[in-house]
Amino acid sequence: METGSGRTPLTTLKGVGDKVSKKFANLGAGSVEDLPFLIPRAYQDRSNPHPIPMLVPGGTFTIRGKVMSLYEKRYRRRGTLEIMVSDGKGVLMLKWFRYSRWLKKNLDDNFPVGSEIIATGRVDTFAGQFQMYHPEMASPGDGEGQGIVPIYPLTEGLSQRAVKRAVEQSLDMVGDHFQEFIPLKELDELSLPDLVTSIGSLHNPPVGSDVEALNRGDSPWHRRLKFGELLLFQLGLLQRRRSVRQIPGFPVESEGELEKKLRESLPFTLTEGQERVLKEIITDLSRGVPMQRLLQGDVGSGKTLVAFICMLHAVESGRQAALMVPTEVLAEQHFSNMSRWAEELGISSVLLTGSMSSKEKKEALNIITSGLPVAVVGTHALIQEGVDFPSLALVVVDEQHRFGVVQRLALRKKGESPHFLVMTATPIPRSLAMVLYGDLDVSILDEMPPGRKPVQTIIFSESDRAKLHLVIAREVKDSNLVFIVYPLVEETEKSELSAASEMADRYRKQIFPNLKIGLLTGRMPADEKERVMSDFRNGRYQVLVATTVIEVGVDVPDATLMVVEHAERFGLFQLHQLRGRVGRGLRPSKCILVASESVTPEAKERLAVMTRSTSGFEIAEEDLKMRGPGDFFGVRQAGFPDLRYAHPIRDRALFLSARDTGERLLEKGGDEAQSLQKSVEEFWSGKLELPSSG
Ligand code: ADP
Ligand code: MG
Repeated sequence: METGSGRTPLTTLKGVGDKVSKKFANLGAGSVEDLPFLIPRAYQDRSNPHPIPMLVPGGTFTIRGKVMSLYEKRYRRRGTLEIMVSDGKGVLMLKWFRYSRWLKKNLDDNFPVGSEIIATGRVDTFAGQFQMYHPEMASPGDGEGQGIVPIYPLTEGLSQRAVKRAVEQSLDMVGDHFQEFIPLKELDELSLPDLVTSIGSLHNPPVGSDVEALNRGDSPWHRRLKFGELLLFQLGLLQRRRSVRQIPGFPVESEGELEKKLRESLPFTLTEGQERVLKEIITDLSRGVPMQRLLQGDVGSGKTLVAFICMLHAVESGRQAALMVPTEVLAEQHFSNMSRWAEELGISSVLLTGSMSSKEKKEALNIITSGLPVAVVGTHALIQEGVDFPSLALVVVDEQHRFGVVQRLALRKKGESPHFLVMTATPIPRSLAMVLYGDLDVSILDEMPPGRKPVQTIIFSESDRAKLHLVIAREVKDSNLVFIVYPLVEETEKSELSAASEMADRYRKQIFPNLKIGLLTGRMPADEKERVMSDFRNGRYQVLVATTVIEVGVDVPDATLMVVEHAERFGLFQLHQLRGRVGRGLRPSKCILVASESVTPEAKERLAVMTRSTSGFEIAEEDLKMRGPGDFFGVRQAGFPDLRYAHPIRDRALFLSARDTGERLLEKGGDEAQSLQKSVEEFWSGKLELPSSG
């Protein structure tokens, strides 16, 4: 059977023309073969609506009742849409925080006051009243069947009925053609249904199915889909790990003279944690197998120094070491530290970023391509074509979550199987790290340098502005430095959000005419950024108004106050990273999160988590609980294949069992592994260089 080229256009379906077919494409289904994989986002048990008084906060339920009122509530520029529903026993409010005009019109047309409505969604209580947020709705009349009715994701101009009809047709055409790529024996062992059964049942759940499991995405059929993608995910990583282990690497041979000299010049001693991870890494470096290691340590735990020391070993052994970071600001910062040390130690160091002049770039490239021992710091520019490292011994990737698998592998390929260290502040449990970064060994830096005081975190509302200005003024008076951060502003939102540059102007002209206030945005030219950062670090600016360019890595020990404007717009882990910019020196530090009063309950909860905890580990767990799949830790893992169904925390057990199964299948080899190989390659579709199966 031909797959791949054998894609049937959606327009072959009844009721689907060019226009509708584009809408399906928006939902991720570009062909008839894709439609069966458009899995419902919820299920309504219409024959069994839940009595409103019996609802339990936190659960997902279906209720049925009469619309009593429908209104929009306005708060400044945002609003909520609210529908009161009564089922004769109790009253519940359906509530939308974000909604399109299309939804409003749809509700006005289909659910006028007095009409019957069936709604499915997560239930919570607010001020003693049951509320259901962003529910799925239906009229008792529509949807052919009674029983358990699937609710599909929609896009503007597509109705439930249209999606359902198209999916039904696609199932008739291709519904039993899917190749099961998991060996049946494995499925049996895990009591998982096969692919064809799973797809069919997800679209038409049999009578008597567990609706709650379906709505949790935890039915056996969901589990089969999750397991399938996790297995392909793990197989790709495992194969890569194997193939790299077979390549001989070069042991780094050094006496550690440079390390010794550096330690002598440091104003502090290394923490026990730093000593331990250093030992792990240096041991790896001395081996003839290329190291593939993840160094995980919370924001501010001192990963950079560990990386520098490792780079010194490479340079001392007569070879090259490269550190890749995600932003130019960070590259400049690392380079300014490193070149100072390098000079003291008498070794050469080089910076390479995209925005350097072509003359500067050429000079840097000349040194790099000469093959002379050198420590290199750079951005993505390092992985560009034409940048060759003839004697690269060690590659370090900082803030790995900003890069993802593909880019980190690109740098790795620059030399002849160099040792490889990736660093991240994303604190995930070791077992999970091994699963997510299946091709890496893991070192954990679980200790902060001594003397750090936890950053005190406070939430301010818009009406606290005057107080905020007082706090800033007091901080500056004590000769401390202050960050004020604004979310990145999209053009269309300009009117709604005060852009960083406008605010900087207001601070300069109206609020603090006597203070020196700097501005840093991503769009500024690199040398300008560099000047602003160093002026801030040296205290020539007392306040730095910035966009999120300073989110990761920036180290300004004299900064003691971080003000985050529109804090509700940031993800938890982003807030944690931003807060990590202060509290790096010995002085007590504060983080003030400014948010408007009318934010969603989710946003409120995020801010509350920040005031409760300063541990990156706890915050990451909370973050994971709140977020959906495909969006780990608030930052999309660029380069990972999309996990459409599985969630890294909620489906942890499945992750682990997929890894076991993957290892076993690889070990066994043979026909089964061969036929799986095609699916693995398709899943990763070129994103991961896999050893050829032939
Ligand atoms: P991160 O792990 O977030 O990258 P950094 O490497 O930027 O953290 O380190 C944060 C700060 O801690 C830096 O100013 C660094 O000089 C300092 N630091 C690193 N190690 C120690 C140590 N052992 N004792 C005291 N301060 C340290
Ligand atoms: Mg760092």
